[in-house]
Amino acid sequence: MHLKIDLHVHTIYPADSLITPEEVAFYARKQGLDGVAVVDHDRLDSALKISRELDFLIIPGMEITSSDGHVIGLNVQKPVPRGLMAEETVDKIHDAGGLAIACHPATFFKGSLGNRVTSRFDAVEVINSSAIPFGYSAKHGERIASHSGVARVAGSDAHYGPEIGCAYTAVDAEPTVDEIVNAIGKGFCQPFGKAIPLALRLKREFLVLRRRSGFARKWTENVEERSVSRDT
Ligand SMILES: [Zn+2]
Ligand SMILES: [Zn+2]
Repeated sequence: MHLKIDLHVHTIYPADSLITPEEVAFYARKQGLDGVAVVDHDRLDSALKISRELDFLIIPGMEITSSDGHVIGLNVQKPVPRGLMAEETVDKIHDAGGLAIACHPATFFKGSLGNRVTSRFDAVEVINSSAIPFGYSAKHGERIASHSGVARVAGSDAHYGPEIGCAYTAVDAEPTVDEIVNAIGKGFCQPFGKAIPLALRLKREFLVLRRRSGFARKWTENVEERSVSRDT
């Protein structure tokens, strides 16, 4: 069975994403996806919570900030610490029962592993819809994947609902988390996708900025209220 899975989605729990759990399922269904991997930055609790609560196929995981660049721990059963070297991070992911994916290995502004991807990884994210520049990133991602000889996958790296599904991995598996993760580990998968359209990126940036300024305003008001109540 061919499944369409977006393997790289962030939710509202880290402050830089706008996507609520309900939106994950809504936009994934709208894009005809069969499942989504939720991989928030350096935390696993949000993905585990969503995978339990949503009536939609969620593969839990986390995007780990290694000292060499970002690594996705797909379906890890316990959190993997940040700040370790890439090789050590891969070991920890395997110890935690997950797959190690070298995400956006050749892009700017994102913490990329570059040539530090080895055959000990389980997959390389050849297509990342948020990567800048997209064409360069996909071309060099492909080179890194063929050099390391591991599976090739894709994900949107969505931080805003309508970005979900801009890229997806076609997986030859039955629709359960274990079957999908096993199939990816064996390379029964293929990456598809495109860059997030510029208009969508700009809209996301605008919404993130508006949210941040809303937070800043609320915080300032709280501080003012507190100092007023202390003065009176
Ligand atoms: Zn990243
Ligand atoms: Zn990401």
